[in-house]
Amino acid sequence: MRTVEEHQTVVAGLIKSRAPQQLPLSDTLGLVLAADVVAPLSLPGFDNSAMDGYAVVAEDVASATPDAPVRLPVAEDIPAGRTDPLTLKPGTAHRIMTGAPLPTGATAVVPVEATDAATDTVAIRAAAKPGQHIRRAGEDVTAGTAVLHTGQVVTPAALGLAAALGLAELTVLPRQRVLVMSTGTELVAPGSPLQPGQIYESNAVMLSAAIRDAGAEVLAAPMSGDDVDTFRAILAEHARDADLIITTGGVSAGAYEVVKDSLADQVEFVKVAMQPGMPQGSGTVDGVPIVTLPGNPVSALVSFEVFVREPLRAAMGHRGPGRPRRTAVLTENLTSPRGKRQFRRGVLSGDTVTSYGPPASHHLRWLASANCLLEIDEDVTELAAGSPVAVWDLS
Ligand code: AMP
Ligand code: MG
Repeated sequence: MRTVEEHQTVVAGLIKSRAPQQLPLSDTLGLVLAADVVAPLSLPGFDNSAMDGYAVVAEDVASATPDAPVRLPVAEDIPAGRTDPLTLKPGTAHRIMTGAPLPTGATAVVPVEATDAATDTVAIRAAAKPGQHIRRAGEDVTAGTAVLHTGQVVTPAALGLAAALGLAELTVLPRQRVLVMSTGTELVAPGSPLQPGQIYESNAVMLSAAIRDAGAEVLAAPMSGDDVDTFRAILAEHARDADLIITTGGVSAGAYEVVKDSLADQVEFVKVAMQPGMPQGSGTVDGVPIVTLPGNPVSALVSFEVFVREPLRAAMGHRGPGRPRRTAVLTENLTSPRGKRQFRRGVLSGDTVTSYGPPASHHLRWLASANCLLEIDEDVTELAAGSPVAVWDLS
């Protein structure tokens, strides 16, 4: 049997980054920059007003008080977006709005609240310090500066900055495209009626969500019955654009193991010393990496967490791409099979953790409300309440 670490290494070795791409801003949230972003212009791009008010020469209003306002003729009205060049003559004021370009010659902005807000001759009731309420060109960003760096994750604020700089695209590591295929003649799509002996398909929807949650893109394929020709046909038709194929089911020790039967030449099927998730496989199909996960829903998702999620995120450039891991204090006694790494579902609360539900691999209900995995070593068969235990934080 393979160890968990051995199989992790094999799977990680299969998953490769795609070449960097320039993508429209709206497609890049959560992706990792593959090039520095150098500002093509300064921000602000020009001196402008930080307030709604009046542009003045500061000395002209030096004596202004509420009791003895200074009155200035209003020579211009400058809303945001006015583009013609303007010059302020000493002894006059220009009414100006927030973000509007400061006229040449103005040295301060008096907020409208310190005036009578008039449009012909304005009464200014407060003195102004030179430079007040003026945003200077380049005080945020100087053209030519690298403002975002290779390896940074694109956040909403990073997108705002890129747009403010006039950039329509960013150079990023694109999403991995993952084809998800479930197998099983017993499977029926949710929403359709069930015949006796049939069950609803749940792995594809669950894994697709996990793939998207990891920041990758899902390529959907129809589910396959346990028929080799159908399975191969679906794979041939849908795997072309995939960077990774994930299948579920059809890899254990029974008959009708369609994934095993179809891919015996391309995939190495192995047993991994873990619970759940013992039957695993990996390889390449026509050059596309494939990871064959077991069919039991808990096994499928735990296997995705343990083997696929971290290298998938690493291939998209994420640093520290794995789930946060820590040690918590167990609230109860637990047992674990000798010789297998056990991943139990758990609920982490502060520094303590309680295992949640039975260890068997079909108890999906418990996984659905767990927020962590407990990782119990191969040589541990009993853990007492109060013991430290390793947890993977899934929250
Ligand atoms: P298998 O490995 O194909 O024998 O599947 C193991 C168990 O998981 C069986 O009980 C299957 O019915 C179940 N199973 C396999 N694939 C799925 C799926 N996509 N959705 C729900 N249950 C599944
Ligand atoms: Mg099956």
